[in-house]
Amino acid sequence: MARKFKSLETQLIHAGEPEPRIEGAVSMPIFQSATFEYFGESPYDDLRYIRLNNTPNHKALHQKLAALEKGEEALVTASGMAAISTTFFTVLSSGDHLLAQKGLYGGTHDFISKDFSSFGLSFDFIDGDDPDSWKEKLRPNTRAVYVESLTNPLLEVADLKAVVEFARENDLLSLIDNTFTSPVNFRPLEWGFDLSLHSATKYLNGHSDIVAGAVIGRASQIEKIRHRLNHLGGSLDPHACFLLHRGIKTLALRVRYQNESALKIAQFLDNHPAVDKVHYPGLPTHPHHQRACEFFEGCGGMVSFEVKGGLEAAQRFIEQTTLAIVAPSLGGVETLVTRPVTTTHSGLSLPERQQLGITDNLIRISVGIEATQDLIEDFDQALSVTS
Ligand code: PLP
Repeated sequence: MARKFKSLETQLIHAGEPEPRIEGAVSMPIFQSATFEYFGESPYDDLRYIRLNNTPNHKALHQKLAALEKGEEALVTASGMAAISTTFFTVLSSGDHLLAQKGLYGGTHDFISKDFSSFGLSFDFIDGDDPDSWKEKLRPNTRAVYVESLTNPLLEVADLKAVVEFARENDLLSLIDNTFTSPVNFRPLEWGFDLSLHSATKYLNGHSDIVAGAVIGRASQIEKIRHRLNHLGGSLDPHACFLLHRGIKTLALRVRYQNESALKIAQFLDNHPAVDKVHYPGLPTHPHHQRACEFFEGCGGMVSFEVKGGLEAAQRFIEQTTLAIVAPSLGGVETLVTRPVTTTHSGLSLPERQQLGITDNLIRISVGIEATQDLIEDFDQALSVTS
């Protein structure tokens, strides 16, 4: 019987590890074998084959992730978008309607707004802040509601409790992208969400060296998603499984440090004369600070801010930073900075960006695990050239 572990730190290290250890190996070996000897497995989904997501590397990760977020089961996928698209294609069928929070990650927003119609799916965006307005968007064919735990890049926190209640009252599945918070700061299933999704590329792996995704939830739901994933083919390669498995073990250490460092950086920026506005839910001035305190154990490592002086000033800041690397993506050990207008949200039109409040002078920081003071000094010198 699989051992159970009480605290998250212990689960990160021990949950899902093979028992007994394979040849005594302390670290999970890589099973780089496309196929495995047949011992009469049935049905098809149980044949052991990498695409069917059931090699020892997949199984160990599934158990670890399920334990971390207290789900019955989990599934890893080839990318965060594979987790998101496969989940949509499982819980929605042609003719169905989705309610999705506005201000989602650009790739998800694009997938819903540009690709859904060619599969006979429809959608409406809802304001995560205004539960009273959701009912009027509901249709007889609405099947699910989709939100993010923290939105990108403005770090907004929807009324997550209301999302779960609304879904229950209206017989919808509640889905949440938990990438930005990670299981260290938020465990959606404990709050009643049906499915928690991740771009494991980010905090779960934490080292900016793979793309991966994950879905966690009830066994019956995960089984359906796994079946669909097996057909769509978005399985994670065993070597990437190994890297994710290794990265995940330090998740709590990394994320707790990033929580603290990001808060100090947000406070520094908030007091800086060259900065117009800081978006970080750990600041008491953030409109969703109370919600963040209620739901989250930490506000995470993402901070965004608007520099005074418009686009040119933002560009000068970006060019002047020496420690932070100018790159999209997030959640790794190295600090990254980006202008969402040119990267994550470049697929949106100007009116769409304006409606979401994503300005030309907005800069997003993914705080890594460098010394906080070194980062603050680097940002300070970069800000000195913006005006
Ligand atoms: N969800 C969020 C919140 C993201 O930020 C991203 C990527 O940046 C994704 C999903 C997609 O993940 P991936 O790039 O692993 O496919």
